[in-house]
Amino acid sequence: MNAPHPKTALAPAGADALLKRSKLGGLIRRHSGCEVLFDAASRGRYSTDASIYQIEPVGVCIPKTADDARMALHIARDLGVPVLPRGAGTSQCGQTVGECLVIDNAKYLNQVVEFDREAMTVTVQPGMVLDHLNAFLKPHGLWFPVDVSTSAQATLGGMAGNNSCGSRSIRYGNMVHNVLAIDAILADGSEEHFGHFGATATKKLSPRMSRMVSDLFSLGSRESGEIERMWPRVLRRVGGYNLDIFHPMSERPYTADNSVNLAHLLVGSEGTLAYTRQITLQLAPLPRAKALGVVNFPTFYKAMESAQHIVKLKPVAVELVDRTMIDLARENPAFRPVIDRALLNMASGGPQAILLVEFAGEDRSQQLAGVAQLVELMADLGLPGSVVEMPDEGPQKALWEVRKAGLNIMMSMKGDGKPVSFIEDCAVPLAHLADYTARLTEVFHKHGTEGTWYAHASVGTLHVRPILDMRRPGNEGGAAKMRAIAEEASAMVREYKGAYSGEHGDGLARGEWVDWQFGPRLGQAFREIKALFDPDNLMNPGKIVDTPKMDDATLFRFKPGHTVQDLKTALDWSQYDVQRDPLSGAQTAPGSGHDPAQGLAKAVDMCNNNGHCRKFDAGTMCPSYRATKDEQHLTRGRANTLRLALSGQLGDAGIASQEVHDALELCVSCKGCKRDCPTGVDMAKMKIEHLHHYNKKHGLTLKDKLIANLPRYAPIASTFAWAMNLRDTIPGMAKLSEKITGFSARRTLPRWAAKPFMKKGTTPMAGDVVLWADTFNNYFEPENLAAAKQVLEAAGYKVTMSVPQGERPLCCGRTYLATGQVDEARAEARRSIDHLMPLVDQGAVVVGLEPSCLFSLRDEFLAMNLGAAAGRLALESFTFEEFIAREIDAGRFKAKFKALPQKKALLHGHCHQKAFDAVSPIQKVLGLIPDLKVELIESSCCGMAGSFGYDKEHFDVSMKMAELSLLPAVRRADADTLIVADGTSCRHQIADGARRQAVHVARVVENALEDMP
Ligand SMILES: Cc1cc2nc3c(=O)[nH]c(=O)nc-3n(C[C@H](O)[C@H](O)[C@H](O)COP(=O)(O)OP(=O)(O)OC[C@H]3O[C@@H](n4cnc5c(N)ncnc54)[C@H](O)[C@@H]3O)c2cc1C
Ligand code: SF4
Ligand code: SF4
Repeated sequence: MNAPHPKTALAPAGADALLKRSKLGGLIRRHSGCEVLFDAASRGRYSTDASIYQIEPVGVCIPKTADDARMALHIARDLGVPVLPRGAGTSQCGQTVGECLVIDNAKYLNQVVEFDREAMTVTVQPGMVLDHLNAFLKPHGLWFPVDVSTSAQATLGGMAGNNSCGSRSIRYGNMVHNVLAIDAILADGSEEHFGHFGATATKKLSPRMSRMVSDLFSLGSRESGEIERMWPRVLRRVGGYNLDIFHPMSERPYTADNSVNLAHLLVGSEGTLAYTRQITLQLAPLPRAKALGVVNFPTFYKAMESAQHIVKLKPVAVELVDRTMIDLARENPAFRPVIDRALLNMASGGPQAILLVEFAGEDRSQQLAGVAQLVELMADLGLPGSVVEMPDEGPQKALWEVRKAGLNIMMSMKGDGKPVSFIEDCAVPLAHLADYTARLTEVFHKHGTEGTWYAHASVGTLHVRPILDMRRPGNEGGAAKMRAIAEEASAMVREYKGAYSGEHGDGLARGEWVDWQFGPRLGQAFREIKALFDPDNLMNPGKIVDTPKMDDATLFRFKPGHTVQDLKTALDWSQYDVQRDPLSGAQTAPGSGHDPAQGLAKAVDMCNNNGHCRKFDAGTMCPSYRATKDEQHLTRGRANTLRLALSGQLGDAGIASQEVHDALELCVSCKGCKRDCPTGVDMAKMKIEHLHHYNKKHGLTLKDKLIANLPRYAPIASTFAWAMNLRDTIPGMAKLSEKITGFSARRTLPRWAAKPFMKKGTTPMAGDVVLWADTFNNYFEPENLAAAKQVLEAAGYKVTMSVPQGERPLCCGRTYLATGQVDEARAEARRSIDHLMPLVDQGAVVVGLEPSCLFSLRDEFLAMNLGAAAGRLALESFTFEEFIAREIDAGRFKAKFKALPQKKALLHGHCHQKAFDAVSPIQKVLGLIPDLKVELIESSCCGMAGSFGYDKEHFDVSMKMAELSLLPAVRRADADTLIVADGTSCRHQIADGARRQAVHVARVVENALEDMP
């Protein structure tokens, strides 16, 4: 069973290897248009995927054209360096890690090559993302129906590489059932077309291909008996090579007439046979009608037992969400309302599991009838009234998003024990599903752990990941338990005649099980296939054949001896520094998890590399990736860089290293990941921590000092407003100032107001509402504070300003945080708390206009060791619109509003408003104005992000972020439309990029105030 361990070097590169690496990088750079990433941090970022493994690649190249890829393959072959094609790197079994030249197709090779509407076929480049293809197809009423959960990231090349399977595979099959042809480059450089063979072939075989195909046919015919004997007979079998193209074994034929399609041999080959240059896919009509029935089960066993009956109703999907997953989803503010709509009887405990049963097709009444039959069936099975019917698209879509995020939700557990993928897609026939899941759960308990079940009940492929501590050595450690559990699970899979690898492929986690599953004879046949395609073992070696042991800890991300550098952190990360009991779920106290980096390393390790941040659809995360498409500028890439740095894998400089600085350079601190990353990776806070250490080492630039100290020098500077504003009026001044300060000459700077709202407090602070006079509104746009004050007073509140008597305004410390000066920020926060708490204790609330300032009180204040008062203050701090929305709901908001001349408002939410789920209150407040239609712009970050966009180095990327959706939407708006944006920098970006004046919501409602009698 345990194959010999091939050469998978992890040791530091020797002189020869270094020389080869530098030669390889140099040649690719010289002879191709590839981006070439051979530095340690880049190699580190490409050394992991969504598995537990980590192997450093020789280097990374990113081809811009197919010719570039061709040239890189050619050079690597000449130097004898193996290659590893990569898409989004979301593989769970370690398919995309190896000591190879990684060829990343996702950034540039992502276009549609040919589309035939009539034939319902499309040819795409390998790096095209599934969701992007489906967006292209939607207007044509078509889709590519292999709907993997990672549809927003997964590339078609990677999906073909893994023979991926979607939630609706019971209707549409796996990749192998939907790929028509692959144009590939073979290890020897020859280019071949793989498609239908025989009478239906569209292209003539080359002499080289003829020879190979003839050998392949002989192999298939020689092994037909063994295939018949050993091959799993389930739909979901993706392990090994698809030798059954020559002797069909799948529950669902690969081709309509069971003829051979040679492309199907490449599907699921995990980059070990050839490089896919382009793929031709069979498309399907987009179903016009969908209806969903959510069955609530009192026990998990009953859910599993019922699946075999439910599939007889011919649904397109039957997907499981178990109780643990339900509970974890309910802990996430974005998912809770969605999942709650699907649950019954929560007051009396609620279901132990739900099955999402979808019916889809042309005719709506037929799909609704499907759900009605489901209701009847469940009554017959003893569960009357157990189905929540969802006929409408909106709730259906939202619930599918929660189901798709299942794995990510599960991974949000804190502590060193994490759910580990290695038996997570075993497929068993439906009749055995209930027994299999019950017995495997017992196995988990025997090994002191637990697993959460979810996903594809329709095809017997339930996902489950036991919680294991992969850093812990010895018998109680993750590796030992992983092996023990795998041995027992595999025995059961064999007993039930299932497939050990039913969705996620072989990679490093299941490679050694290929021979076990198919037997030594077919294992040998697989080796012969590999030798026919790649005799010199240059294509992703060590996968599918001649693989290492799955529990070889030297290949793990947390290798034996993994340590974290001691670090005294500036912020409080102790909530992550915990351990969790896998069985009871009990968590130890904050700070007790033994993290030498005081919880920061464990916060970073919350990133499990699933790549969800590589998305371009709704949500904010991650603007810098959206603009650059670089792994370095992606939340995942940043977390990996930090993980490597904190564990000393990038040298001694640790968190203060240049590599970390470069990776965080374009992070706009939008907090999008804090909300959108399923495990809540909070990169904005990590950037503050990094800057704190980095700037301590390197000192602050003049620009940093000017930004950070703005709240302190603003009272004096504002006295010379006219002089301060000269920079943008005298020709040449902006250019000169760019040279001296680093602020881009291509932007104007915020204009100092002739008179700030308040410089110093004149009377003691006292009132119901403390209106937060943030630096930006106070000195640059005081009219916003005036408007807010007027509205609040009109509604009957006694308003006091956050400006203590005889002192400058209170400050949230944001400008200090932006430059990593946590001690200074803490001092400002302390001053604010000292002044505000006496008022708050008497019942006052704090209301702010600038989202990034106000949310500091609710976020960063809590991480600066400011004691219990900070927590109390956070609860009583609101944005202007949040406060009004709360008062409306409580029936206390008394102001009256009249219609405005404008009838439409286009609203852009500040990133921090989105991160704190605080956009809807703006809509509610604008809803007070009669006849005003409010439309929300689906935008990520505006790209300005505080001071980010003012930096001359950031100008271009800042504009690129804004151009992704915000600026085009503003430009499309007619002149009568109000543009509403609460963020100072958002308004500036809109003015710079679209020449439109955006306003704070306070100004809009002030204008609409009914005249007072
Ligand atoms: C949270 C989560 C949920 C998932 N859900 C599903 C699911 O529902 N269904 C499912 O099937 N899988 C699922 N997966 C696994 C994974 O997302 C899929 O296998 C996905 O299709 C991989 O796409 P990718 O672009 O990330 O490929 P990668 O991981 O980059 O590559 C996959 C394989 O394809 C090879 N490859 C890539 N490009 C080429 C090329 N041009 N030529 C030759 N070989 C190539 C690679 O070498 C590798 O072996 C999930 C993973 C995660 C983390
Ligand atoms: S940062 Fe979050 S979304 Fe991105 S890979 Fe890590 S865990 Fe996934
Ligand atoms: S804070 Fe924003 S820019 Fe930074 S990593 Fe998170 S999502 Fe990306």
